[in-house]
Amino acid sequence: MTNNNAKAAEGCVFCQIAAGRIPSIRIYEDEDFIAFMDIAPQTEGHFLIVPRDHYPTLEEMPEFLLARALPLAQKLGRAAMTGLGVPGFNLLQNNGAVAGQVVPHWHLHIIPRRQEGEIPFKAGAPADLTRLPFVAENIRGNICQ
Ligand code: AMP
Ligand code: ZN
Repeated sequence: MTNNNAKAAEGCVFCQIAAGRIPSIRIYEDEDFIAFMDIAPQTEGHFLIVPRDHYPTLEEMPEFLLARALPLAQKLGRAAMTGLGVPGFNLLQNNGAVAGQVVPHWHLHIIPRRQEGEIPFKAGAPADLTRLPFVAENIRGNICQ
């Protein structure tokens, strides 16, 4: 493991799993990532794709790992669809406790889906069209190159 966030990583459950100090049921590993079954699955077959090194959220993730993560999610998502015979899956990634992130070590969830409504992702209420342009501008105006 590299030295990034070494202190935070000390008590991190995913760092411990990556190091083999906490058991996990692995489905994949390479030099940068491991993937293992979620211990409290949203649906049967729910697993996590986790970098070996400790980065708390998307903000800290290096671009070379991000460039690898989505093709890996595609590959493992395909394997889940074929192997579990499911017609779809959710790719989920939480950033920050307010967004429901419980383990502050960046990870992707792959959640196999068998039927609509299994987990409560719902469409939101219609946007307030008087606010939407201003909300958009607050984001647009802060995109760094
Ligand atoms: P998040 O809310 O995005 O941080 O998701 C953390 C996920 O990690 C949850 O779905 C947990 O069930 C899962 N999790 C926590 N500890 C373990 C563990 N020891 N082995 C496998 N999955 C875990
Ligand atoms: Zn960690």
